[in-house]
Amino acid sequence: MKVLIAEDNAVSRRLLETFLRKWGYDVMVTCDGREAWEALQEPEAPNLVISDWMMPDMDGLELCRNIRKMEKADYVYFIVLTAKGRKEDIIEGLEAGADDFLIKPFDQEELKYRVKIGKRIIKLEQRILRLATVDPLTGVLNRRAFMEKMEEALLRSNREKSPLSLILTDIDHFKGVNDNYGHQVGDLVLQRFTEQLSKSARPYDFVGRYGGEEFVVCLPGVDASQSRSVAERMRKKVEEMKIKLPDQSQSVRITASFGVASFLFGLEDNVDSLIGRADEAMYKAKREGRNCVCVAKEVPKVTKVI
Ligand code: GH3
Ligand code: MG
Ligand code: MG
Ligand code: MG
Repeated sequence: MKVLIAEDNAVSRRLLETFLRKWGYDVMVTCDGREAWEALQEPEAPNLVISDWMMPDMDGLELCRNIRKMEKADYVYFIVLTAKGRKEDIIEGLEAGADDFLIKPFDQEELKYRVKIGKRIIKLEQRILRLATVDPLTGVLNRRAFMEKMEEALLRSNREKSPLSLILTDIDHFKGVNDNYGHQVGDLVLQRFTEQLSKSARPYDFVGRYGGEEFVVCLPGVDASQSRSVAERMRKKVEEMKIKLPDQSQSVRITASFGVASFLFGLEDNVDSLIGRADEAMYKAKREGRNCVCVAKEVPKVTKVI
């Protein structure tokens, strides 16, 4: 686990670093609040911060207040290290959003267990977040988490004027899989199907479960014609899959229908209308015989009445 140290005193900094490394933490060292703040903007930044209070430029409490204002999905556990041990100092620190205190000169064993508490809280928080956002069967985002992420992606796309596309896919005759092989095999098929979708997606794409056997893939930066190729590639991969039954006796083959829609700039387009168009395109693919890709017409569904 990564820990970020913010401390202007070289001796104390070195001491913290040595102990934390000895206990197996991945340590990142900074010399003041400003430097720590910058380090926390990085994508894989630590979730646990041990910060001195008195530092030049940005002090520990200011750093803590800034972290609490940050729009970060996961929690940052903040331990303040200070020589100020009076009750009103502690209250000031707690008000700034600190989780814990260590009074200087700190005791090695105490530090060890305080960091352990932080680690426990972070793990718990990550577990709760996972339970709340991930579909337990397939491991992709659940509908609510997908929609939230989609809203953010759409805002970014609008701001940066970069394209964004959405693929909605539904397994063909999936009821038949359940009827012929049972629900457990049906579940296995859903897992293999989403694995295949995720494999065909790029790292910044994201996959969600929209409903029973319907899934959505958001493709930031991808326009209509590119997204058709992505969906076509996914369709082909799904068609080629041989899903082995648990007893290895035989394998199941499936196909899926795909609907694709792209964000329309300046036309009052939003997540709902985008999904609506992808859904219509997917139903068109069903009507056209299934196992195919249809792209939505580039006109918004809502037409203004003048
Ligand atoms: P179509 O090609 O028109 O999409 O036909 P379909 O059979 O795939 O569609 P239908 O809507 O008739 O059936 C979907 C089935 O998906 C019914 C439902 O029981 C099944 N299903 C939904 N969620 C799950 C799940 O989590 N596990 C399993 N095993 N089955 C599921
Ligand atoms: Mg200091
Ligand atoms: Mg279906
Ligand atoms: Mg369906």
